[in-house]
Amino acid sequence: MTFGGFLFFMSRNNIYDLIVAGGGAAGFFGAVNYAARKKYAKVLIAEKSQKLLAKVAVSGGGRCNVTHQCFDAAELVKYYPRGGKELLQAFHRFQPRNTVEWFESRGLKLKTETDGRMFPVTDSSQSVIDVLMYEAEKYEVEITTGLNIATIEKENGLFALNAGEEVLHCKNLLIACGGFPKKAGYNFIEEPGIKIIDPVPSLFTFIVEDKALTTLPGISVSEAEVGCSLLKQKFRGPLLITHQGLSGPAILKLSAFGAREFFNAQYVFTLHINWMGGMSEEEIRTILVQLKNTHEKKNAANARPERFSQRLWIYFLMKAGIGEETRWADTGGKQLNKLIALLYRFEVAVNGKNTFKEEFVTAGGVDLKEVDFRSMESKKIPGLYFAGEILNIDGVTGGFNFQSAWTTSWIAAQHMV
Ligand SMILES: Cc1cc2nc3c(=O)[nH]c(=O)nc-3n(C[C@H](O)[C@H](O)[C@H](O)COP(=O)(O)OP(=O)(O)OC[C@H]3O[C@@H](n4cnc5c(N)ncnc54)[C@H](O)[C@@H]3O)c2cc1C
Repeated sequence: MTFGGFLFFMSRNNIYDLIVAGGGAAGFFGAVNYAARKKYAKVLIAEKSQKLLAKVAVSGGGRCNVTHQCFDAAELVKYYPRGGKELLQAFHRFQPRNTVEWFESRGLKLKTETDGRMFPVTDSSQSVIDVLMYEAEKYEVEITTGLNIATIEKENGLFALNAGEEVLHCKNLLIACGGFPKKAGYNFIEEPGIKIIDPVPSLFTFIVEDKALTTLPGISVSEAEVGCSLLKQKFRGPLLITHQGLSGPAILKLSAFGAREFFNAQYVFTLHINWMGGMSEEEIRTILVQLKNTHEKKNAANARPERFSQRLWIYFLMKAGIGEETRWADTGGKQLNKLIALLYRFEVAVNGKNTFKEEFVTAGGVDLKEVDFRSMESKKIPGLYFAGEILNIDGVTGGFNFQSAWTTSWIAAQHMV
């Protein structure tokens, strides 16, 4: 409130044991796990927007992909382009098995889909929200929306948080504010001296410049291998053609692992695709020669490797200069070589990116060197903790980002107790 031209701040009388900045997955999980173990503690979740657990609500198409059925920590960390190394020890303490137990012991059963993603059996995010809200109520966690933590100061062992017209005080502070698209979003954390890695988007699809290809939307191959000169690694998985370009797990993995390189290249580069799932040139030749010899009298368009739909196969034939009506017997050596080269190392120009079903994750955030992963506490400022997407951690699609939020906030909660 203003008085006599000066700005005065209202101060709540109480000092909180814990204030959690951010009412998302990590914020709620940290708050309720802390409050459950620390009886009579005063805990506040301060959420800047009017909506609690907003991303939980929309994730997984409204079903909330809570975690992934991968119970081996060493295997699990491979799904994190950033943060995997640091998360290894954290997953030894709280991993997907613990997430499943945590929710199931509170009445919410999870089920696993064929690709390993785990969802509530209700197929509704609301069930996850209900459990977290119920726990918060049970342990008397205060929740205030419309409270934007704008600055953080530490005085006499207490944190003083400036939130609009209020100053809040607490002994422990858990920052669980998610990711921000621009570095300015992190100013309130950077000011007290925490290093921030510039944020860039992760998990996106590619816009490609090949009109003949993008006239085949919806067509997919079950296993392709994708890569580009900007990155050493290649990624395998299903590949999907869309109206504007390419998507599917193989592309999403590539986009996540190369998030920074693609940002630096402004999303303009040449994508390489091995349409045969990473087979060698020789293996592809053997398959095509066998196909040709077995189906000499058939049109090349009508005898194809099983993995390709007819429309996609005709697209390759056209590119190799083989007409739809050409019989296998009439294809020449040059055409066959061209076809093999296309399937082995297809090159297509990428010119931009798109979001994947509205899902996005931020690569960047609090530098992991700032944080002690045994406690999630700041190495510089005792009592200050970080959890969830605010950290420079991100996973590929499939429940890995939520798992990181559950794990980091659970560890912070245990240590604060
Ligand atoms: C559409 C969509 C679908 C997704 N699907 C999946 C999926 O299927 N599986 C998966 O694992 N991940 C998925 N993700 C990613 C996942 O939702 C996030 O990684 C996860 O929600 C991060 O949780 P968080 O609590 O760290 O951050 P958030 O959920 O972003 O919560 C942070 C909260 O902090 C608040 N806040 C920010 N600044 C302040 C401040 N200064 N003061 C107070 N409050 C503040 C924000 O308003 C927000 O409510 C999806 C993301 C999106 C956008």
